[in-house]
Amino acid sequence: MKILRASHLGMCFGVRDAIGLALAQTEPSTILGKLVHNESILDDLRSRGVRSEQQLDAVVTPTVMITAHGASERAINSIRERGLKVLEATCPLVRYAHRAILRLAQEGFHPVIIGDRQHVEVRGLTGDLDTFDVVLTEEDIARLSEHARFGIAAQTTQPIDKVRKMIALMRERFPSSEVRFIDTVCQPTKQRQTAAIEMALNSGVVVVIGGVNSNNTRELVVTCAKLCPSVHHIQTAADLRLESFTNAETVGLTAGTSTPDEIIDRVEARLKEFAARPDATPAETFRDKLAREPFPVVDTNDKDAFIAAAKTRQWDREKSVRILA
Ligand code: SF4
Repeated sequence: MKILRASHLGMCFGVRDAIGLALAQTEPSTILGKLVHNESILDDLRSRGVRSEQQLDAVVTPTVMITAHGASERAINSIRERGLKVLEATCPLVRYAHRAILRLAQEGFHPVIIGDRQHVEVRGLTGDLDTFDVVLTEEDIARLSEHARFGIAAQTTQPIDKVRKMIALMRERFPSSEVRFIDTVCQPTKQRQTAAIEMALNSGVVVVIGGVNSNNTRELVVTCAKLCPSVHHIQTAADLRLESFTNAETVGLTAGTSTPDEIIDRVEARLKEFAARPDATPAETFRDKLAREPFPVVDTNDKDAFIAAAKTRQWDREKSVRILA
């Protein structure tokens, strides 16, 4: 059994910096919300005395830390009004998304965020806006009222191809409106998505490591599941089960942006132990299956369309290489 690590995986600089800031605190402080969607890191921080609360009312320390997901200026001001010091670990790429959507609103566009309205980052992005919409599905777009100008930004961890598809749907639904988009999907998310596709194409089984509430981890699972019939979303090496890999020749490995390197290494080490067993029989990868079939040409630069075409064998080798590059 071979183990294939995605070329980009795991913790991003935004999460690393936020954890570093939390660990550097010498005064009692409380993280408001989850610093990262990863229980192992949160346990580590707790063991070092860094508190974590979901509600501001529960904070008893003089300093409150805002997570990498950011918060609205209104929310930050309401913390300051209580006499508390605010420590911001907001990722600079989330700050960029804040500036983008505010600029669109100031320029007279009706602000629309493509993202999960329940996610803390999206609540932060919309918290300073008086009027806005949040969309994530075709049905959400169908429910929108018409505006002369729509200004769109995205939650930083949404897959860019999904975002582009939503913008195309917006333009189709409102042909007379001006639709301006500022790309706020972060580079680490884009890199992990692209690398996950290449990895999943060559794997009989895929393991995705990350918190169950992590948006970018869940999106990696969705992407890999389009290309590989057996995808396992785990949080730590303890979640791995030998029986999931009995027929696997190549096991692909990727991880969300809040997964620490040590956890990825432990998962890989455990998979290597599985690989050492004598009874492994190879399973065919998705790419193996395609290699046995003819390849009619399809003209597409869209990842979803490409995947759909690949599944029905209506694709072209040359183009697929270009799309994945
Ligand atoms: S996923 Fe992207 S936006 Fe979020 S913390 Fe990491 S780099 Fe920043």
